[in-house]
Amino acid sequence: MFDNPAFDGHEEVVFSFDDATGLKAIVAIHNTRRGAALGGCRVWPYATSEEALTDVLRLSRGMTYKAAMADLPLGGGKSVMIVAERGAKTPAMFEALGELVDGLDGRYVVAEDVGSSPADMSCVRRATRHVTGVLPEDGGVGDPSPTTAYGGFIAVRATARAALKREGLSGVHVAVQGLGNVGYGLARHLAEAGARLTVADISPDRVAKAEAELGATSVPPEEIAFVEADIFSPNALGAGLNGETIPRLAVAAIAGCANNQLATEADGAALKARGILYAPDYVGNAGGVIKMCGEYFGWSDREVMRRVERIGAQLGAIFAEAAATGEPTDRVADRIARSRFMPA
Ligand code: NAD
Repeated sequence: MFDNPAFDGHEEVVFSFDDATGLKAIVAIHNTRRGAALGGCRVWPYATSEEALTDVLRLSRGMTYKAAMADLPLGGGKSVMIVAERGAKTPAMFEALGELVDGLDGRYVVAEDVGSSPADMSCVRRATRHVTGVLPEDGGVGDPSPTTAYGGFIAVRATARAALKREGLSGVHVAVQGLGNVGYGLARHLAEAGARLTVADISPDRVAKAEAELGATSVPPEEIAFVEADIFSPNALGAGLNGETIPRLAVAAIAGCANNQLATEADGAALKARGILYAPDYVGNAGGVIKMCGEYFGWSDREVMRRVERIGAQLGAIFAEAAATGEPTDRVADRIARSRFMPA
């Protein structure tokens, strides 16, 4: 494990198997210098434990950067639950996960992620208080997606300000990829702010809804990245900005909520070389973790929203520093984040 390229100085990695429930889980705690390592539990039918380990290490490290950049009193961690097939999870497995998390004594705080839900977090809650994103009827905030979507909207606005020298989004043309929990909410905020929308999703129903409700125009999924627009907003899968897509982009800037948008480190530099301003993904999509953090510490809605609004200023500072130093924005963001969890 220490030789895994994604290891990157993790503080602690726990492997757990529970015979009674069939729980097979890995908890990765990357860094706790700023506080408890908060991160979701991904439930996925990983083909091998090696694949699960690499995924949890990569995701956990990402959470440290996200929490530090959002200036939260949190470190970064993540867990994965290895299941036989998609959806093969039980409430008992989540209770067992809760016991595992409780044994870590607050060093790791679990939340929902791909494959897990607020209802699953309510099961975890029966065994530990170190969980967030539980169902509203159990005292939690539930699905964080609306807050992520609002943070994404703040990010698009800040990016338009820097790239287009525009205050507000009236008449700004945004190409939105993915109309799921986050993408649809973001598209709605954009439409309310007067933006012109071109959208795509592999689900025809979501596209039809955006056309009817938001006045959006649509293109097939394979065309959305190449639409001539002001801003491209990725809100579907990761690694969409790569050697194939970057040369064909026809926008001034990119700002969206998908995780891990750059396929490789070189892709941030490639965007810069093309003069396309990139809002680093983990800065713009921090609304959800801010909301989760608020639940864990009992912050008011007002405090949560105040912190989500600060995404705009954080991006403004990154864009200004990148302009001054000539570096790609993703590299500047990583440096700022690192200075917050690895002080000199
Ligand atoms: P989701 O599954 O609800 O939505 C994803 C949407 O993308 C779906 O509608 C799907 O049909 C669509 N899609 C898939 N492939 C596509 C393609 N090739 N072209 C166009 N559309 C495609 O997921 P979500 O919760 O909305 O998350 C979206 C992204 O944001 C993910 O990358 C996720 O990791 C990231 N994110 C989400 C949150 C959150 O709070 N939910 C927080 C941070 C980051």
